[in-house]
Amino acid sequence: MAQIRIISPLSGQAWPLERVPDPVFAQKMVGDGLSIDPVNNVLLAACDGEILSVHAAGHAVTLRTPEGLELIMHVGIDTVTLKGEGFMPRVKAGDRVSTGAPLIEFDLDYLATHAKSLLTQIVVANSDRVTAWERASGIVTAGKDTLFTVTFAAEETTAATNGAKTVTSEAILIPNRTGLHARPAAVLANLAKSFQSAIKLQLGDRSANARSVTAIMALEVSHGAKVQVIATGADAATAVEKLAEVLAQGCGDEGCTPAPAPATTTVSAAAAPPARRKSTDPDLLVGVSASPGLAVGEVFQVRRMEIEVQEAGAGVDIERHRLENAIATAQAQLSALRASLHAKADPAKAAIFAAHEELLSDPDLLEIAESAIAKGKSAAFGWKKAVTTHADRLAALRNELLAQRANDLRDVGLRVLALITGTEVREPQYPANAILIAEDLTPSDTATLDRSRVVGFCTTRGGATSHVAILARSLGIPALAGVEPAALDVPNGTPAILDASIGTLRLRASAEQISRVRTAQQAAEERRKANQEHALEPAVTTDGMRMEILGNIGGVRDAAQIAKLGGEGVGLLRSEFLFMERSDAPSEEEQFAMYKAVAEAIGPGHPIIIRTLDVGGDKPLPYLPIPKEDNPFLGERGIRVCLDRPEILRTQLRAILRAAAFGDISVMFPMITTLEELRDAKAILVEEAANLNLPPVPAGIMVEVPATAVMAAQFAREADFFSIGTNDLTQYALAMDRGHPKLAPKVDGLNPAILKLIGHTVNGARSAGKRVGVCGGIATDASAVPLLIGLGVDELSVSLPAIPAVKAQIRTLSMDACRKLAEAALAAESADDVRALVRNAEREPSMTGAEA
Ligand code: PEP
Ligand code: MG
Repeated sequence: MAQIRIISPLSGQAWPLERVPDPVFAQKMVGDGLSIDPVNNVLLAACDGEILSVHAAGHAVTLRTPEGLELIMHVGIDTVTLKGEGFMPRVKAGDRVSTGAPLIEFDLDYLATHAKSLLTQIVVANSDRVTAWERASGIVTAGKDTLFTVTFAAEETTAATNGAKTVTSEAILIPNRTGLHARPAAVLANLAKSFQSAIKLQLGDRSANARSVTAIMALEVSHGAKVQVIATGADAATAVEKLAEVLAQGCGDEGCTPAPAPATTTVSAAAAPPARRKSTDPDLLVGVSASPGLAVGEVFQVRRMEIEVQEAGAGVDIERHRLENAIATAQAQLSALRASLHAKADPAKAAIFAAHEELLSDPDLLEIAESAIAKGKSAAFGWKKAVTTHADRLAALRNELLAQRANDLRDVGLRVLALITGTEVREPQYPANAILIAEDLTPSDTATLDRSRVVGFCTTRGGATSHVAILARSLGIPALAGVEPAALDVPNGTPAILDASIGTLRLRASAEQISRVRTAQQAAEERRKANQEHALEPAVTTDGMRMEILGNIGGVRDAAQIAKLGGEGVGLLRSEFLFMERSDAPSEEEQFAMYKAVAEAIGPGHPIIIRTLDVGGDKPLPYLPIPKEDNPFLGERGIRVCLDRPEILRTQLRAILRAAAFGDISVMFPMITTLEELRDAKAILVEEAANLNLPPVPAGIMVEVPATAVMAAQFAREADFFSIGTNDLTQYALAMDRGHPKLAPKVDGLNPAILKLIGHTVNGARSAGKRVGVCGGIATDASAVPLLIGLGVDELSVSLPAIPAVKAQIRTLSMDACRKLAEAALAAESADDVRALVRNAEREPSMTGAEA
């Protein structure tokens, strides 16, 4: 054992690592230690030792003491992206230094304006060998005060390699734009530690111990470098496979540029662009539904604005200044746009513009533009070149999701280009009832569409998952994506009917066809008004069965609307919206205030079901790194994330327990698959309630996994209620990604297989006298409502605008007829057959109990 004193390398305030706004440091993946908010600009050696490495970007240095303790000093957060700007290292690898020797000088003003944070981390990379810590707090002085003292075990345990075989991976191309810096190195080292084998990372003729963050960093693996993983030991094959996979995917780093796929790689069906549908009728064009709805109007062609630029610059300083100013103004515009969307509680849209802001600080883009400027080109020329190069590269990828991001890049690129050149981006003058047709619309186009004139749009590119599709849905504008290219040749003014629900655009529609659609639209509007008038009345079937109709909400703003729409409570509060669009997790106080506000908006006597954080899969959180997974929907998501990081769950449960004093609050755990998960989550709930001296709230589960539906009777003994999440249940039961552009139409919750799982869940719940609700999308589908009632569910939780219509529909149904219909549906052969059964039943008077 040795005791080692680490002297503060900088002056400033000492902070616990947990408060550092970078999850890899905050979760101590790089190592344990402290952070300093510096007030001076020279990083000193914190102890005697040998310099193992100085990062090429000059922002981080590692040092090894004679006892073998490895200390990483990392100035600022995300400073690797500054590519050395503002840093002047004073040492090199191999130097021996004494405590207090200057290691890195840095430009404090430059970093203050260019780095995400100045917080400087001093961590022991091999902190698994530290047996005791003593840490400073408050203000520390460089070269004088002790930052921390560690008791350090001298011997390192080595991995077992006796008589074991060695496995070597294929060459892996590093996709991380800034190479293997501290963050990816920590992710890799942590993974390597989970294996018994000795593991090396090989770069050319040099290698590093893959368990050591410092050794990986010292290897200085850059973007595009080829490395190999070599493991020796009992689990060598698995270790190589896993590490190679994580390396190839960027070790959780954002914005990796995918390494080109080797020629032999097969492209999965999911990654390939969807096959385009084609119609044989020249007056009927087909596409993918991006936002459902029906519109009648006239075609209006929209073409992407091109800004001509001058190649020659007016001088390097002037052009650099122009570019910086334009980017700063674009950033301000986007953050104003985002703030206004946030204020309108529209996180989906806000997130899109947050992503645009991120693109503006992309170091690769800036590098291309700046290098053009340095060669005497204009800022406009350099920027346009940077954007075009990147967007074309993205668009050419076979991964459709990435290809769609090219459109975002072109959008934000145009915004900056217009600012550099002083070009006014005028909104086009759309005619009344315009159905826009374009190759692609940008998110900016869509967000600022004049809703009084534009009734729908079609794009030949994009898919159901593109950002434009998300925006169209949130605006309630019917839209098609991936329409046949012939659409681009249709003359302006051509009368058309856009039926985005079934994915068609009918051209040269006759007056009669148009008038039929208009009549249907008018009737629908009248129905909507009548439903709203009766919205506050209960939903009771014609034979006296009362169904509870609740709303699905994302926050306080929605909660305030529920009562007006006739909702009888909250069946699903998707609490993840509170966690998105931020740079750190909301505190217990923030969450408490929000849950309390929801409870107060809903009022006493109305149930509120708060679902605990459901992230992972397609709902990532920037500050909660989940290693990239081949199939994230089957990986770490929902309750799995929360049980893996119980502090997040504990904080949320404390906030919910405290808010329960203000309303009829229950908690619900997402993605429960095993009884063990339910028991673990409930144990945490009970523990936190006991700590707060409060009674635990009822705890239910989402039934979203087929295994859970099948085991419903066992779950019903331990869960207080069930809520069936048919969105996920359907994708898991049918093995079809719910967001897949090509398979989407087949992901139908009315498939008899899903109905059987729902029926089975209801029977399981009944066996223990528990209630069952449905909160997935089919609860809003008019064809599904009679079936769900017939299958015996107690409540439906639906999207808010649908509440009056669902209630009105239930008032027309008879329980008896619904049961018979459900029975027939369970025996049907396909979702289409079930839908046909429902359509036929709607024509029967007995459906309403009129003949009963
Ligand atoms: C569901 O899966 O049906 C559900 C309601 O949860 P989410 O859509 O938020 O995944
Ligand atoms: Mg779900």
